[in-house]
Amino acid sequence: MIVCKNCGRKFRDKFGLVLCVITDNGDDTVTAERYDGGDVDETKSKVVSGCPNCLTDAFLIDKPSRYKRKYRKGGHILSLDELVKQDFVYWHDKIHPRGWFLSWQFRMAADNIGENGCIFYAIKEE
Ligand SMILES: [Zn+2]
Repeated sequence: MIVCKNCGRKFRDKFGLVLCVITDNGDDTVTAERYDGGDVDETKSKVVSGCPNCLTDAFLIDKPSRYKRKYRKGGHILSLDELVKQDFVYWHDKIHPRGWFLSWQFRMAADNIGENGCIFYAIKEE
C-alpha cells in the first residue's frame, strides 16, 4: 500500500496515482502540475507518479503489506523436516508461502537448506 504523508490518502497500488510534472523554476521553487500528456522540457521537469491531491511523489511512502509485517527473518533452516513444517520461509530476503517450496524438486530444497543455504525461518511477530 502507498500512503501520502501530506494528505493522508491511501492507495492500494501505483494505479491510484496520477502522473505529475514537477518543474524546477530555477529559483529554489518547484511547480507541480498534473501531466497533460504534452511535451516536457526534461532539463527542468520530470514526470512522476504522484498523489492526485498533492501532485507530487515527495510525500509518498510505500507501506509494507500486512502480510510482510507479520514475519521477520530468522536463522537458517537446517533440515528438510523443519522446512516442510513451515507455512512461510524466507528465500534470501523475500518471504514465500509453503506452496512455493513444496513444488520444488527435492534436490533444490536439499541444496538450499543448512548453514550455507539461503532458506531461513520466517518468525511470526506477535
Ligand atoms: Zn497527498
